[in-house]
Amino acid sequence: MYNNSERRKFDPAKSDSSKSANSFEWPFRLNFYDKSPWYEVSLEDFERYALDRLRVLAEIESSFARNRSWEELKSVTTRQCKDHIPLNSSSASTVDTQTERRNDHLGHFVLRLAFCRSEDLRRRFVKAETALFRVRYESDDTKERELFLQSRDFKWTEVNSEEKLQYASELKGLGIQQPEEGVPTTERLYKVRWTQVPDLVNKRRVLLKDGCAYVPSKEQLSIVLRAFEANLENALDSTARSIMRMDGDTRLTEILNHMSRGFVAGVASEYSGPATGDEIRADMVDDLAKRHFPLCMRNLHECLVRDRHLKHFGRLQYGLFLKVLGLSIDEAIAFWRKSFSNLTDDKFNKEYKYNIRHSFGLEGKRANYPAKSCQQILLTDKPGPSDCHGCPYRHFAPDNLQTSLLATYSSQGLTSTDLAEVMRTVKEGHYHVACTRVFEITHAAAGVKKGDGIGEGESVTHPNQYAAKSIEIEKAQRGDAMAVE
Ligand code: SF4
Repeated sequence: MYNNSERRKFDPAKSDSSKSANSFEWPFRLNFYDKSPWYEVSLEDFERYALDRLRVLAEIESSFARNRSWEELKSVTTRQCKDHIPLNSSSASTVDTQTERRNDHLGHFVLRLAFCRSEDLRRRFVKAETALFRVRYESDDTKERELFLQSRDFKWTEVNSEEKLQYASELKGLGIQQPEEGVPTTERLYKVRWTQVPDLVNKRRVLLKDGCAYVPSKEQLSIVLRAFEANLENALDSTARSIMRMDGDTRLTEILNHMSRGFVAGVASEYSGPATGDEIRADMVDDLAKRHFPLCMRNLHECLVRDRHLKHFGRLQYGLFLKVLGLSIDEAIAFWRKSFSNLTDDKFNKEYKYNIRHSFGLEGKRANYPAKSCQQILLTDKPGPSDCHGCPYRHFAPDNLQTSLLATYSSQGLTSTDLAEVMRTVKEGHYHVACTRVFEITHAAAGVKKGDGIGEGESVTHPNQYAAKSIEIEKAQRGDAMAVE
């Protein structure tokens, strides 16, 4: 991608004026990604466009885990695509479609590098990419789609009238009607090797003759999707074989490792708060925790109340969360001082106050640290047996998790009958999806329905996003009255 002698610097600023010259680089909105990037790429673009795409793919993966119908998945994905990886048809005159397609192309190839590394990642990537392709295919301009199909060899032959007539009764049996006796059906039929459409063969939706499947035009999409999948599977296999050469470049491997974690916990948007728009006082935290915090923060809060102490990673996870929620430095010091009630003032000031000020960027290198996202909580600093940090959906034993869920959320409407669904999702490794489902259940009384997630179907990817949405819902319920008093 970097050392190609053919490479040509792509300058988005110039791309509008050079649109006609570039117009054949990406002639269609749909893409099978046959040709790897031949243009120069900055490290920033390398990461940026892959992350944008990963946000969409992670939400598609969540949609599968949440058993969304195809129409629901399509609508969530279309919205996400519009926000993160817009791709307009060639007829859009006010948009630089070549830049959009170049960014889409780049994002796909970076993720290929990230997801070729294990059988499981390859399978999940192919599934999510195929769904994304299908969403775009179904929403594509009919004429442009037709031209795209003509531009590729799908190894299909259109069946002529004579052959249609020969198999008329069998086709009729499959629901491919002919207008009247002795007249071949007017529906277009494509003949392909049966191995190109195993799903249709399985569902007996095609006529099989001599190793060929006769596919009606309404099922044409199956042929295209299967070809897309097969293409991508082969490409991932060969990328996996050649990736060894790249493993020496730590700049890239770090980015790629980070990307491949995106499927475990979604990709969090930057979250800088304050979440509620209101300042939180130390004496409000206990009440807010009980009404609005996700399980990871509820657990930390309860450990803190019980033990009057939290270990380092617990303090870090909870402290940054509270900071982003709206706790000022003075209120944070007041909160932690009161919570660590077993300590003397002297010990607290010497051993803890500095770290609190440090997390607000007032000491040391004065960085304003962000709160941890679900991905960071799920994948870094694995908790030991006596730690309270981490994500309970991932780090608790199943029995403990069920007990904890009921103890924490039964007053907010979670019942033991909800546990089967939540635990199934946890078992499949979709921890943030389980957390999203719990959010929906515990906010059902406020009108949140299954599939709504934390708004417009989105899954939880950040604890602050969970708490902020919960507070926002309560505020909306109360009208303009403050939820946080
Ligand atoms: Fe916290 Fe995220 Fe786990 Fe939910 S999924 S409990 S918000 S870390």
